[in-house]
Amino acid sequence: MPELPEVETIRLQLNNVLKGLKITGIEVLTKKSFLGDPGEVKGKKIIGVRRRAKITIIEMEKGISLAIHLKLTGQLIFRKGTEKKYCEQKDGPFAVCELPNKFTRVIISFNNRGRLYFNDLRIFGWIKVINTSSEIGEEKFGPEANDKKSFTLEYFNSILSKTKKPIKLIILDQEKLAGVGNIYANESLYSAEILPTRQSSFLNDEETVKLRDSIIKVLNEAIKHKGSSDRDEAYRQISGEKGTHQNYLKVYGKAGQKCSKCGGIIKRISLGGRGTFYCEKCQH
Ligand SMILES: [Zn+2]
Repeated sequence: MPELPEVETIRLQLNNVLKGLKITGIEVLTKKSFLGDPGEVKGKKIIGVRRRAKITIIEMEKGISLAIHLKLTGQLIFRKGTEKKYCEQKDGPFAVCELPNKFTRVIISFNNRGRLYFNDLRIFGWIKVINTSSEIGEEKFGPEANDKKSFTLEYFNSILSKTKKPIKLIILDQEKLAGVGNIYANESLYSAEILPTRQSSFLNDEETVKLRDSIIKVLNEAIKHKGSSDRDEAYRQISGEKGTHQNYLKVYGKAGQKCSKCGGIIKRISLGGRGTFYCEKCQH
């Protein structure tokens, strides 16, 4: 599932291509994927593209926005018809050679003849028409995990001190911290040399500082690498190209392989139903 770095990559790229354009049409191919009245956004000019947690928000004039959640298999691909199309047939259902394809659920057209295709194999994702001022789901999300200013050390200390749950489950909890999913939870804990199963309230001051720094660093590096498109993952940049951060992962998906720091073997356990990867020599 796309996490903060993947959604942030899409947001930055959409902001570059959509800002200032007008929406000229919305074609809904799968009803379940679009909530609201397409007529409300037709003809509206785009002011910019924002993000909250894993939700992309296309903000338009007159206080209207489109909120988009990719969930497990959503893709947002922008095509103008003239540029070279990125295509890899071997990507199977996630290939974006000819669009629309059989997983295209919504097509948004713009006044520069550009088109944004919302593809979603599993149909868990959605596009919603919202009032910009409604601050979608604001109360349900913790601070943005890649943002030093809102994700403060003081805040992190306060949430950790209140719970004995394993630390990995706490940093995955979107109500406490927005944007960290399974890949980056594993990577951050490895970087901070802390075991995923450690009781949160038992982390000492030094470990808490190190973990917060690691989460921020790991997420921002992944944004720099335009996100991770792991095997069998749907995530693509808006051109259709994969991200590159999967080439930089240290523990996620690497059970049985050697730890790059100590040469020990990476272990895999299940924690809260999710694949959990760690090095028992480096992480304590
Ligand atoms: Zn190690």
